[in-house]
Amino acid sequence: MSSSLSSKVAERIREIPRSGIRDFFELVQSRGDVISLGVGEPDFSTPWHIREAAIFALEKGETCYTSNLGLLPLRKAISGYIRGHCATQYDPAKEIIVTVGVSEALDIAFRALLNPGDEVIYHEPCYVSYNPTIFMAGGVPVPIHTRPEDDFVLRASDVEKAITPRTKVIMLNFPTNPTGAFEPVEELEKIAALAVQHDLIVFTDEIYTELLYDGRQHVSILTFAGMKERTVLFHGFSKAYAMTGWRLGYACAPAEIIEAMMKVHQYAMLCAPIMSQRAAIEALENGAPAVEMMRQSYEQRMNVIVTRLNAMGLPTFRPGGAFYVFADIRPTGLTSKEFSMRLVNEQSVAVVPGSAFGQSGEGFVRACYATAMPQLEIALERMARFVSGLKSESAAGDRAA
Ligand code: PMP
Repeated sequence: MSSSLSSKVAERIREIPRSGIRDFFELVQSRGDVISLGVGEPDFSTPWHIREAAIFALEKGETCYTSNLGLLPLRKAISGYIRGHCATQYDPAKEIIVTVGVSEALDIAFRALLNPGDEVIYHEPCYVSYNPTIFMAGGVPVPIHTRPEDDFVLRASDVEKAITPRTKVIMLNFPTNPTGAFEPVEELEKIAALAVQHDLIVFTDEIYTELLYDGRQHVSILTFAGMKERTVLFHGFSKAYAMTGWRLGYACAPAEIIEAMMKVHQYAMLCAPIMSQRAAIEALENGAPAVEMMRQSYEQRMNVIVTRLNAMGLPTFRPGGAFYVFADIRPTGLTSKEFSMRLVNEQSVAVVPGSAFGQSGEGFVRACYATAMPQLEIALERMARFVSGLKSESAAGDRAA
């Protein structure tokens, strides 16, 4: 862009850095031979019966707008699903809004609730959109750094220290992108108590809660006393149902909050695509076996990737859920960007530098194991070769010194 035009861009947008993931993936896409453990999306196609539901809707000529809140049968299906999954009841008429992915739901929720200067506490490393979405809504992002020695769990004691008179929202995401962290119930309960005590809103992004491992069970923060009336639950279809391209998500919250979110949604988006909504009804009604099949497959891959990364000298904790591992690359002496750049240039494997997920992600790389096993095996062999090459380099350096 010419310098005169870039000066026309709003100052607050100029201030936002481009996503570290995007820069990196433009580079990766320019090369054909790369195995990507980078982008956080399932390698499965959407299960056929779900695709068929959308095709059928199109065949019937369902190509129009829906209610701003989303098709009522979908909201009813969401209500039934959340009753089973999160043990909480929402009224489909006024407590659920269907959105263009969880991405849009987060954006409209922050825009609906934040006044300029309101603080949002969230745990970092975290999904790349939280910080800029809060910022674009006029809020102040307040990250809490979680620790590798603690398996990136969020401690209620750290949340308590971050609360100020300007705090409005605590934002949670378990299992966490990018670490795979799973929050112990005791901590969740203490965070809930803090929210009640300080009269805070809680946003809980539960997009990965179907993908849990080692027999873990999902417990939503919604289930603790006094929480339903102060919580916005975000969920969607991208991850569990392998539906990233359908762009469908939803939020459940008290009616006053849904009404406020709807005001932003109706002018920005109007409604989510009708064919995706039809597919989503089928996903919720009949998708459970496919989700379980994919979950088992991710768990198998997780076992392989965790074992192999540890064996090659990159300490990697066993994630509780989602489909990411967060490998500690500090033993190599490289920064996360150097490691990722050299790995892609020298061995054609893409992982994401941990620094893309916030300052506290430095020293780590995120590898997504939603990649078919044969590809994953090759990628891991190449990574092992890369890491052992680094060791020989540093041994030669030591001898020379
Ligand atoms: N939240 C988290 C934690 C995510 O990882 C992602 C996608 N990577 C999203 C939200 C956005 O999901 P959607 O496709 O529903 O917009």
